[in-house]
Amino acid sequence: MAPPIDAAALQALRSRLTTATVYEPGFDGYADSLIRWSDTGMKYAGVVVQPIEVADIQTALLWAQEFGVADIATKGGGHSTAGTSSSDGGLVIDLSRMKEVTVDTNKKTITAQGGATWKDVDETGAAHGLAAVGGTVNHTGVGGLTLGGGYGWLSGQYGLTIDNLLSAQVVLADGTLVTASTTENPDLFWGLRGAGYNFGVVVNFTYQGYDQADPVYAGILGFMPDKLEGVMDQLNVTLASPDARSGAMCIFSQAPDGSGPIIVVICFHNGPRENGQKQFSGLLALEPILDTLDMVPYSVVNTLQNPQATYGDRKLFKGIFYQPPLDPKFARMIFNDFMAKINAEPDLTPSAIILEFTDMRKICEVPLTETALASRNFTQNGIIFLRWTDASRDLEHRAWAREIQAKWKAELDTRTADQEAGDDVPQYINYAEPGDSVVSNIYGVNLARLQGLKAKYDPNNVFNKMHPILLK
Ligand SMILES: Cc1cc2nc3c(=O)[nH]c(=O)nc-3n(C[C@H](O)[C@H](O)[C@H](O)COP(=O)(O)OP(=O)(O)OC[C@H]3O[C@@H](n4cnc5c(N)ncnc54)[C@H](O)[C@@H]3O)c2cc1C
Repeated sequence: MAPPIDAAALQALRSRLTTATVYEPGFDGYADSLIRWSDTGMKYAGVVVQPIEVADIQTALLWAQEFGVADIATKGGGHSTAGTSSSDGGLVIDLSRMKEVTVDTNKKTITAQGGATWKDVDETGAAHGLAAVGGTVNHTGVGGLTLGGGYGWLSGQYGLTIDNLLSAQVVLADGTLVTASTTENPDLFWGLRGAGYNFGVVVNFTYQGYDQADPVYAGILGFMPDKLEGVMDQLNVTLASPDARSGAMCIFSQAPDGSGPIIVVICFHNGPRENGQKQFSGLLALEPILDTLDMVPYSVVNTLQNPQATYGDRKLFKGIFYQPPLDPKFARMIFNDFMAKINAEPDLTPSAIILEFTDMRKICEVPLTETALASRNFTQNGIIFLRWTDASRDLEHRAWAREIQAKWKAELDTRTADQEAGDDVPQYINYAEPGDSVVSNIYGVNLARLQGLKAKYDPNNVFNKMHPILLK
């Protein structure tokens, strides 16, 4: 653990802040202020500042640099399993009191403060008949998700979250507040869209909103494990002739009622029941043992995973990615490995392997160098999600996840060897834990330009927690 921050330094901080709430070790509320979505993301900060005004963010940043407080973290929704929104002995700027969302109904734009969650955006947007392109689990933060690209059920129609970001206001390391958009500081705006955690504290994001007709057709299908190959074949069909209004997610997990392994498919169609039923007719014909597909409000779709994605316990999130069509034999091998692991280690029972089936056409219409995000391609993403309680097993569980991740990487390499001439396909930054040794290509072709931007906007590397951009 890092040494405590000098008492005089803390006193100076308190005297300079105006309306922010401050938590120091040993003070009431300090322990709660450290809580993150995953216990693996929690660290003992030297001080936590919860601002409600931009001026206090500026003050805290300048104070930390003046007093040599090195480990500076920004907390948005707090979902980093690797602790990138936490600080070991240093400063956390915790935006959880800055979560206001406003709508401009004339321009159809939605502006969210940097500490808002997608629930705040989904519900405020819905009150005005609008939706923004956000994530599929509504308690994640707009901050981290947007700055790393971001996508969700509406991405088939409208692209990534960053493709719908119109502007952002950012406090830079030197304390200045700047606006970034295509017309103001466009170079910073470019960098924010895919590598954004490296440049400052984003105090608000303005997104394009879209008219969202409610309800939509969505829900959960559950299949016995013997249907795995059939389910994969059907999901491959959905990607072979994609529909921009539809998406699916396949989850290998243990049934919550303890009855054993189950294959869950979350289905989404942004349209009427008849069209949705047609889109998923192949899956429905496989006789699911669970079928909750129905017409529901769009904002409810982003709550469907909440019962499995609760706070607490130790967790890891490791990105995997595959070139469709996904080989059902490979999927079966992964499924068997995963279930064998859980049988051997019951503490891992709430874990899952999640495979996404997203129509990437709209996302790939944007040229790769138009934003900083390097993983804009037709590979599909997935997640190895492990959840356990015994902290003494952290390293072993991480090592096992890396083994599984390496199998996906090897499978991908067999499919992409001709096309990529030996280059790793960049990994989706939001699903990559920093220091991940299996897939290290995060910034791809955009790295050199990002290094130049880093030298301009954060030359002392103050913002260095999430896939830091090392200066040349
Ligand atoms: C349950 C779950 C579901 C997910 N679903 C999706 C999904 O559907 N689509 C998708 O694209 N991704 C998804 N993700 C990945 C998600 O985008 C990342 O985990 C994201 O970083 C979470 O952001 P956060 O603000 O909640 O986390 P935090 O831990 O608060 O932040 C993550 C990183 O972003 C930085 N950051 C956060 N806010 C700001 C800000 N305002 N200014 C500057 N830096 C900031 C932090 O410093 C940190 O380095 C999911 C993750 C989880 C855990």
